[in-house]
Amino acid sequence: MKCVICKQAETRAGTTTVTLERRGATLVFKHVPAYVCPNCGEDYVSDAVATELLQSAEALAASGTQVDIRSYAPAL
Ligand SMILES: [Zn+2]
Repeated sequence: MKCVICKQAETRAGTTTVTLERRGATLVFKHVPAYVCPNCGEDYVSDAVATELLQSAEALAASGTQVDIRSYAPAL
């Protein structure tokens, strides 16, 4: 699809790093599947993946984790 931010390029399948903050916890997920704009670098994560990341972030924050960096692992 065409990038909605810069409207200059088609996004390409790739991966990105997503940082989430939840209840004071900072959580970084690497290698998250996304579509990335080669022009401006904007990334587009699917709703399903975004929801999954938020749920993981909630669970980690609830368990008392302050900082966590992990590779994204798709739910089976
Ligand atoms: Zn763009």
